[in-house]
Amino acid sequence: MVTIPLDEFGEYDPEECYQCLLQHPAVTSECRCGLCCRGLLIEVLTEDAEREPRIKELGSPLLTPPDESGHRHPVGYILNSREDMACVFLDRATNLCTIHETRPLLCRLFDCDGEGREQLIELGIIQRDE
Ligand code: SF4
Repeated sequence: MVTIPLDEFGEYDPEECYQCLLQHPAVTSECRCGLCCRGLLIEVLTEDAEREPRIKELGSPLLTPPDESGHRHPVGYILNSREDMACVFLDRATNLCTIHETRPLLCRLFDCDGEGREQLIELGIIQRDE
């Protein structure tokens, strides 16, 4: 079932709608540096895990506080590995994403050649001239 997100005025907000954002053309970065997959916190949505079930297997779930029956429910997943902090789906040898076709929305929209690059510079992950 698709949930239509409404803002506080009950209006439909396409910028908050996962299914709408998924229809945006994916950003294609030319750099292939893999630095965003190695240096950023990769926090993805439960919707991403429904599209790509390996996220549930390899990601670290972010859980709600226990409900009245003591159950905690996933609200998202962290994809950084415990060993080197790079994404668990990054092929370290090639810098390619091993779930490219079904990668999370966050990754589909991250512009490593544009705004995303500025973010990497601001975070000190790369230098301005790299
Ligand atoms: S899912 Fe793929 S594109 Fe996204 S951070 Fe991991 S390796 Fe990179």
